[in-house]
Parts: sequence; C-alpha cells; structure tokens
Amino acid sequence: MNKPENNAAENKPSLNFLEQIIENDIKTGKHQGRVLTRFPPEPNGYLHIGHAKSICLNFGLAQKYNGKTNLRFDDTNPTKESTEYVDAIMEDVKWLGFQWEEPVWYASDYFEQLYEYAVYLIKKGKAFVCDMSAEDMSKGRGTPQIPGVESPWRNRTVEENLDLLDRMRKGEFQNGDRVLRAKIDMASPNMHMRDPVMYRIMHAHHHRTGDEWCIYPTYDWAHGQSDFIEKITHSICTLEFEVHRPLYEWFLDNLDITGERPRQYEFARLNLSYTVMSKRKLLQLVEEKYVNGWDDPRMPTVSGLRRRGFTPASIRTFADRVGVAKRENIIDVALLEYCIREDLNKKAPRTMTVLNPVKLVIDNYPEGQSEELPALINPEDPESGNRTVPFSRELYIEREDFMENPSKKFFRLAPGQEVRLKYAYVIHCNSVVKDENGEITEIHCTYFPDTKSGMETTRKVKGTLHWVSIPHAVEVDVRLYDRLFTVSEPEAVEEGQDFKDFINPDSLKVVTGWCEPSIKSAVAGQAFQFERLGYFNTDKDSTEEKLVFNRTVTLRDSWAKIEKNQNK
Ligand code: ATP
Ligand code: MG
Repeated sequence: MNKPENNAAENKPSLNFLEQIIENDIKTGKHQGRVLTRFPPEPNGYLHIGHAKSICLNFGLAQKYNGKTNLRFDDTNPTKESTEYVDAIMEDVKWLGFQWEEPVWYASDYFEQLYEYAVYLIKKGKAFVCDMSAEDMSKGRGTPQIPGVESPWRNRTVEENLDLLDRMRKGEFQNGDRVLRAKIDMASPNMHMRDPVMYRIMHAHHHRTGDEWCIYPTYDWAHGQSDFIEKITHSICTLEFEVHRPLYEWFLDNLDITGERPRQYEFARLNLSYTVMSKRKLLQLVEEKYVNGWDDPRMPTVSGLRRRGFTPASIRTFADRVGVAKRENIIDVALLEYCIREDLNKKAPRTMTVLNPVKLVIDNYPEGQSEELPALINPEDPESGNRTVPFSRELYIEREDFMENPSKKFFRLAPGQEVRLKYAYVIHCNSVVKDENGEITEIHCTYFPDTKSGMETTRKVKGTLHWVSIPHAVEVDVRLYDRLFTVSEPEAVEEGQDFKDFINPDSLKVVTGWCEPSIKSAVAGQAFQFERLGYFNTDKDSTEEKLVFNRTVTLRDSWAKIEKNQNK
C-alpha cells in the first residue's frame, strides 16, 4: 500500500502539480488570470469519498485562486439517472462545505447546441451515420496494434448523413439501429480516435428533457464541448480520461471553435482500502440488500459517512492529506479514521457508556444514596465546561474490565486489586458472585471515600475504568460497525471471484448500551465520545423512547503506528 503523497505529519505541503499549473497560468495571463473549475457528476448514484476528493480539489483550487466552480450534471444516460440522485448530490456538495456558482448546469442544457455542432461536423465531412450493429462495431475495432475495420457506411454523402441524423432525432428508428460517429482514423493507435460514437438512439424518458429527445450524446461527445460552453479554464478529471484528451481536442479543433479553450488535467483517482468505490458496485450492494441503503454507515458514500458520524472538516482534511498524485495508489482507510478522530477529539462531548455490562456493588456505600460528581465535558476543549455524573451503590462496568485470574499485565479490576472509577473513587475488589453456569453476575467492592476525584490520595492505582450508575442508566441501542470487506482490495479479485464474496459477515453488530443521563439531550447527528470506547453519532432512527448510536470509529489509532513504521 502506498503512502499518501503528503505525509500526515507534515502540515506545510509544497504546491501540488495543479497548483503549479494554475499559478503559472495566472502569471502568464492565460485566461486573463481567471480560474473556473467544475465538478461534473453523473446523476446515476450517490456521491462517494472519491467524489468528495474531486469536490475538495475542484472547489479548493478555485477558492485558493479567487476562482469559481460550476456544478454540472452529466445527464447523458437517461436510463440510469434520476432526480433523486441530483438532489442527493447537491445536498452532499453543500454539506461538504462548498457552494457552486449559480445556476446549476446540466449537459442536457446543451443538447440543442451539441446537435448543431454535430450537424456542423457532418457538413464538414467529419461525422457519419453508421448502421453497423454494436456487436459488429466492437468486432471491427481492432487492437492498439491492429487497425480497425472502416465502417461500410463511412462514406455516405453529407446529404444522406444529415437526413439520417434528422430522422434519428425524429424517432424514426429503433434503439440500436444506427449511431452517429466521428470520422477520424480507424488505424489510430489511440482506440478512442477510431471513429467514436457521438449519438446513440435511446427511446427513454429523461428526468429533465422528458420525451423531447430520443438520441443522446455520449459522454465523450458531450464533455469537452460542455466545458467549452461554460468557459471552464481547468478541467480536472481522473487519469483514465487522459487517453480521451486527444479526442476532446479533436472535436474542438474540427468545430473550428474560436475563443478560450478549456484544458484538461488528469490526477489519480482516490482508492481506499477495504471498500469498493465504483457506483455500479455500490448500487449492487444497495439493490441486493447487503447494506441498508445508500446512506448505510458502512458505505463509503458521503451520505453514509455523514450518518456514520464523519464531519465535513474531517473529510476535507483527509482529501488534503491524500494530496494530488499522478499515479494510482490505494490509501489506507486508517488515514480517514485518523482524520475523524483528530476532529472529534476537539469537538465531541464525553459521556460514559457501558456496552457489555457486569454489575458492580460497592458494599460500603449506603443503600439508596447517590451523589452527583463533576466531570469535564471535553478535556480537549477548555470552553466546554462541566457535566455531572450520578454515582451510587450499584454500577455497571465493562465485563472486559474484570478478570478473575488476571495476567501480570492486567491493570484493571481483579480480586484483591484496586482501580479508579473515572471522576469518582478508588475501589478495592473483594469477591464475586456467580450463577449456576459459573458466569460472574456481581462483583463486590469497597470504596475509599477519601479518594474522591480531585482529592489528594496516596493510593496508587494503574487503571481507570468507566462506569454508569445502574438506577440512573439510560438504555440505548448501539450499532457497532466493522469494515464492510474482509480484504483490503475487494476490487482486485481474481478471475471467477466476485467482490461480494469478500463481504464481512460481522460488519454490523447491534448491542444495548447503558449511558450516563447526560446523553438524554442527544439529537440526531450529534457526536459523542463514549469514554474509552470511541466516537459515536446519534442516528436518525432515534426516538423519544430510545436513542440509537452509530459507532463512528474506535479510539485505537492504527494510522499513527503505520506512519511510524513507514518513517523508520
Ligand atoms: P464511478 O466510476 O464510481 O461510477 P464516475 O467517475 O463514473 O464514478 P462521475 O459521476 O462521472 O462518476 O464522477 C464525477 C467526477 O468525480 C469526475 O470528475 C470523476 O473524475 C470524479 N471521481 C469519480 N471517482 C473518483 C475517485 N475515486 N477519485 C477521485 N475522483 C473521482
Ligand atoms: Mg463517469
């Protein structure tokens, strides 16, 4: 696994290659110093963390250089697109903290203009209507070494081509009967230059243009012209489009377009370990119900990350630290987790919650008595102030925090051992009560009143435990998430295997949690640190009767370790 370009520990990265290009363009007066980038999603799914990277990059560059960013929906494939996706994408971009230049654009805004451009190319002898089937076309494409076969329809007259395109538009033909192709070079070593398709017939309802069109431009035909029409200065996309660039330039050259032209720059797409990123695969996970919708907190979607408890700031920081690379790599998901921990550590109020309880009785604490102990809301935030936590004779602690026969290095509770209860007292363990199966049902302890938190004490303990007072505890549901896949590269599977073969069957566990009463004020979307356990976000499924929490991330930081090893 490769290291991100900008080391997480460095906070003064040098200019990335795009910043260098833009600074140079500004210096030389190209585009009169103007910077206009764009984010061009296809509304055929929800945005994922890879898109978030692209959003942060495009909007971030524009912000840095006093420019602007367009949001343009690439809505050229009506059968896969919908307004549900359009709305979700706009919500996600805003949530990430960015504002596009109004209005929102759509490739479909340019359908008429693109059609006129196509007519222009036909008139110039640079495009033709082809009647080959998709299958024959693909058979005749050749390989990069072997030239493709020219279409028998390649030399139709201009008049015939104009007539056929017009009739294609009018709906005289069936899907697949004909296409419009650019007439370039069937022997080009660049396969994208081998008479690529510009229009296909698709009798399909479009979410914006309705039934106005039954021919739709391909992405390759729509994209460069859309950038040109909007006067985009720096058209930034992922590496796989590098080989399409000569085609985009060919179109603009042959349209005899004058005026400022966009220039495309490519960077390496973000790949993240333990997840899949292709929208097609994410759609499968949703449709085949491996997850509960696009915003399932195990999904790498922006909506899933939001529900999981990731903050916009943490995602922006992550995008920044990943940097801008020129070659493909895989970023360790631990870096993303590091970024959210770092952000929530400063922001999230603390509470004590026990997830796997065992009862602890303090024999020398009077029955029926309780007291309110002061505790910090967030020790990392001096402004946050105090909360109080009720203490009483009967408490829950985590079962894992007790061992009947402890190993030498076990510094938590064991018979004869002493620990501190956080914000409360030091206790000494005397005995345990077991049920008929040998399972511990009660731990009996004594507490030392003169060890109250904040008091001077000579009692030295090695462990501090979190706890909740049983009579005051609030019962909640807690969803514990693990990685959705058991392997770090589920997309790189061998022949005959499917990425879904590697889904982690234990990626979601729901347990009951017992919280201190301060949790009662939680509202959907609010983050907490459950002390010693991790960061948790209040889920929208919470009701008046019961709060529901998603574990965002545990407190264990594996990224710091990875970094340390890499720097050795
Ligand atoms: P997918 O392959 O997941 O379906 P896509 O590239 O088809 O994604 P689009 O909606 O076309 O999805 O993408 C919109 C923009 O987001 C494009 O500019 C694309 O380059 C960028 N993008 C998509 N995936 C990533 C990624 N993993 N890393 C960085 N940028 C990405
Ligand atoms: Mg795409």
